[in-house]
Amino acid sequence: MSNEARESLEVDVLFVGAGPANLAAAYKLGQLVAEHNAKTDTPIEPMIVVIEKSADIGDHILSGAVFDPKAMRELIPEFETEAPFQTKVGRDEVIYLTDKGQFKLPITPPPLSNEGKFVLSLSDVTKWLAPKVMEMGIQIFPGFPGAEMLYEGDTVVGVRTGDKGIGKDGQKKPNYEPGIDIKAKVTILGEGARGSLCKEMFARLNMHSPTHPQVYGVGVKEIWEVPEGRLKAGTVLHTMGYPLKSEEFGGSFIYHLTDRKVIVGLVIGLDYKDPFLDPHQRLQRLKVHPLLAEMLEGGKLLKYGAATIPEGGYYSMPKLYADGVMVVGDSAAFLNGMRLKGIHLGMKSGMMAAETALEALVSGDASAATLKGYADRFENSWAKQELWGARNFHQSFQGGLWSAMFHAGAQFLTGGRGLKDPWPAPAGHEHMKSVPDYYGAEYSPDRSNAGKARPEFEFDGKLTMDKLTSVFHADTGHEEDQPSHLVVRDLDICHTRCTKEFGNPCQHFCPANVYEWLPGDAGQQKFQINFSNCVHCKTCDIMDPYQIIDWVTPEGGGGPKYAGM
Ligand code: SF4
Repeated sequence: MSNEARESLEVDVLFVGAGPANLAAAYKLGQLVAEHNAKTDTPIEPMIVVIEKSADIGDHILSGAVFDPKAMRELIPEFETEAPFQTKVGRDEVIYLTDKGQFKLPITPPPLSNEGKFVLSLSDVTKWLAPKVMEMGIQIFPGFPGAEMLYEGDTVVGVRTGDKGIGKDGQKKPNYEPGIDIKAKVTILGEGARGSLCKEMFARLNMHSPTHPQVYGVGVKEIWEVPEGRLKAGTVLHTMGYPLKSEEFGGSFIYHLTDRKVIVGLVIGLDYKDPFLDPHQRLQRLKVHPLLAEMLEGGKLLKYGAATIPEGGYYSMPKLYADGVMVVGDSAAFLNGMRLKGIHLGMKSGMMAAETALEALVSGDASAATLKGYADRFENSWAKQELWGARNFHQSFQGGLWSAMFHAGAQFLTGGRGLKDPWPAPAGHEHMKSVPDYYGAEYSPDRSNAGKARPEFEFDGKLTMDKLTSVFHADTGHEEDQPSHLVVRDLDICHTRCTKEFGNPCQHFCPANVYEWLPGDAGQQKFQINFSNCVHCKTCDIMDPYQIIDWVTPEGGGGPKYAGM
């Protein structure tokens, strides 16, 4: 941490990240403060601040999404009449896809039933919620990434925001502005999956789950506009099978919105074996299946994006609190993989953290002894009950789709226990096999013939797009003259061991063409990091087989623009 003099701001509660969990938390805290003040002679007037790395609220929010309104109804009962963006789920099917065919499952597995739920854009939800939070006197600052945790000993005392105006050579530019130290009695981290602050803090404060490492999935998603009369708003289709292999966890989601828009997305578990797996290419392959090709024919790609989600479930959840800090939403793995839903759990986590934050403000004690109240509330909540019932779900997919279907059924019938409880699981990147192990010794893992191991795929530019064209539709961008926010700690490993063993999988798993291997001098390959393309999904940080990539926050305001996603 540099010793440069910086501006410092003292606040009572600091929320890092303006996703659904933290916005729900901020709104709830605003309500609780008002209720507290209405019945006491000693009112409090806490300064509550939300910081967000994107230029506008919702720009970095991407989700399916079929929305379970349970938490939202608790928070804002009038949500359904006020919020303009939701469509009620109508047709709701699970379909198994073969290469060219399909069959509908005779019954929708109960955890996947979406009766009474809504299809919506989560980005739109946050754009709707943020002004309501600000109406309560809570300040939201977009364009301010949380770059470093601030500690006194092992107590979290706030967050330093990112510097602005540092050149790619690491030198200060004329527009240099140092980040601000925001000192807070209570800091609430809601950075989404694999947040950079959480990554550092979980390691420093030993907050990782003692039972399982976290495992993740990556979702790649497009929004299309299709010809009139093609869609029925509210249709929700989930598919299994093609274009995934039976050894791979995941499936697609296809949601019909209003205004001729359709969402097409694919989630893939980041615990796959194939070192050449390319989530973007798999999504393109999905679209040539007759089910999608007919739906999208004559349509136009509007948006593209990618995000990771925590899939590990209850046993992978980190410790939810420490001295001065609580962790909410995807950062704390509030996601039910069995139901493919997490927004309602993330919001509920925020609301429980808000109740605990009020206690800390009133008592003047934000130590772990008080903030443990958050974990206690969770253990007694419907959120715990729901996550407990799915506690072994993702882990049981390690034997492939068909064995997992059996185990998922057994878990459903036994309240989540199944045949092994807890079901052991290594970290996702440990599943990846070397090129010779996966494709056979005849394939050289370097780029001289590695392509032979990859099935060819031709992008037609109409239905299927190459990665660069797709990334253009994420509308992502960063100030070019700044240090790369993708920090590779040992480039020697990339050029030697990784090339030989894994064929540099970064060029495949990154859905935004950030990592490129180009022809260089003297027959050597040149490694190039196109950081400006990054859509902040964190797949590289999670899936790199040597765990030497650190995603850190770029200059504030950089990244994708996911309005409507
Ligand atoms: Fe995602 Fe990493 Fe690629 Fe950025 S560089 S888009 S975080 S995989």
